[in-house]
Amino acid sequence: MRDHFELRDGDLAGRIGRLSVPRAGVTVETPALLPVVNPNIDTISPARLESEFGADILITNSYIIKTNEHLREEALDVGLHEMLDFHGAIMTDSGSFQLAEYGEIDTTTEEILQFQRDIGTDIATPVDIPTPPDVAREQAETDLEITRQALADAEAADTGEMLVNAPVQGSTYPDLREEAGRHADATDLDVFPVGAVVPMMNAYRYDDMVDAVAAAKRGLGVDAPVHLFGAGHPMMLALAVALGCDLFDSAAYALYARDGRYLTVRGTEHLEDLEYLPCTCPICTEYSPDDLRAAGSKEQEQLLAEHNLHVTFAELRRIKQAIRDGDLMELVEERARSHPAMLDGYRALLDHVDQLEREDPASKGAFFYASNESAHRPEVARHHARMDRLTAEGHVLLTEGGTPSGDDFDATWRVVPPFGPFPRSLSETYPLTAEVPERLDRDAYEQAARGVSRLVEENPDAAFTLAHDDWPESALARVPESVELESLSTVSERLGDEASADESDEADVSDGDDERVEGDSAGLSDE
Ligand SMILES: [Zn+2]
Repeated sequence: MRDHFELRDGDLAGRIGRLSVPRAGVTVETPALLPVVNPNIDTISPARLESEFGADILITNSYIIKTNEHLREEALDVGLHEMLDFHGAIMTDSGSFQLAEYGEIDTTTEEILQFQRDIGTDIATPVDIPTPPDVAREQAETDLEITRQALADAEAADTGEMLVNAPVQGSTYPDLREEAGRHADATDLDVFPVGAVVPMMNAYRYDDMVDAVAAAKRGLGVDAPVHLFGAGHPMMLALAVALGCDLFDSAAYALYARDGRYLTVRGTEHLEDLEYLPCTCPICTEYSPDDLRAAGSKEQEQLLAEHNLHVTFAELRRIKQAIRDGDLMELVEERARSHPAMLDGYRALLDHVDQLEREDPASKGAFFYASNESAHRPEVARHHARMDRLTAEGHVLLTEGGTPSGDDFDATWRVVPPFGPFPRSLSETYPLTAEVPERLDRDAYEQAARGVSRLVEENPDAAFTLAHDDWPESALARVPESVELESLSTVSERLGDEASADESDEADVSDGDDERVEGDSAGLSDE
């Protein structure tokens, strides 16, 4: 484990961590938002960011400071903390953004790192190449080579206690992103920004963003603090945290405010379109939309910026509580409903379910089945994967109903969509305690059928009968042919009333039938 980053709670690949920033003498709890402070434009002063918004880390641009004579002299003279009047940690960017924007800059990694050290930066950045999405592979590779050299120069530089970023680029090529992540992770640098995702987010390509971050994360170790560079819209924070991003920076709060735009967790509104303010922050409780529209442009920008920051910090707190409660996926699912592009992002996240599954805690408080996507959560994949530890013998009834009277079967297992079959003794273990709606969708039944299929595969000598409650054809088609199918109503008529009694499980936990089942229940909840 890296000694400056300590992981506490986790949910999915998201985590609550503690990033020690030795030069600032502070420890930052992650996920954290770094408000972007433009040294030329004082929208909300750093002192207010600290006292009113609770910001304990911010980001500003060392290249802007270096190329402005007045700012440069002041920063070198009194240091960044005094110049900005901020006591938390200060990260500085290097000019890479300007390089991407204007094609050239007048500095090198060696020089800009020395400058960052001289002005009192706590977390510095080398000059990497932010390669935009969709470029030719050759360009992405050439750019990566330059970024790799920048990281080598940064490793060679004398940076003292200052932490140094190791940006991960690679455009929209997942294999390059993964390789870049692995390379950055192997350096002795400290914080790992995933770069050049802003063009994807601006174009609402949240699925591409998810693929880029997931690839970078595969290369980076679990203990690497990851910064999603340029990401700070509250709508996408839960998704990004679920992927394992720890740091975010927001220029959006100020840039959008300048443009009359109002951020919410469901997207962006234009002040001119708002008749009501759907927020309880100090600004939205004190002012009406008309008040804001009537304010002078400077004041309006200021008030909107404050609201934008409040709503962003509030979302981060909500996300952290969700990690503590183990229901981050439910929050991601909720946010995914705010825009079709967010739904694409969420579905892309579920494409990486095996990757998430490795970090997702095995046991949580609750699993709420809230949409057909819930059928593809890591818990379902994990349950299917563990079929290889569940031993079934003789003739086993897999049923959505209760245990039948009589001795037609050697064992009776429950079947619960979306998980599939399991011995009754596991009924009270996570995630089989999931809250599932009465009106299930096709995905849930199809996933349950996959579970049946896995169980049959792992136990070729056992015979199975599946008593299902009106499963759709698409699910039944996924059940292996060797399994005898019966509808629940038929089974209950033939075997006695008890068989149709739903949820009679508690009584069945110590049922003699279960002794035939050598399910490894301890192993199931241990990992
Ligand atoms: Zn507000």
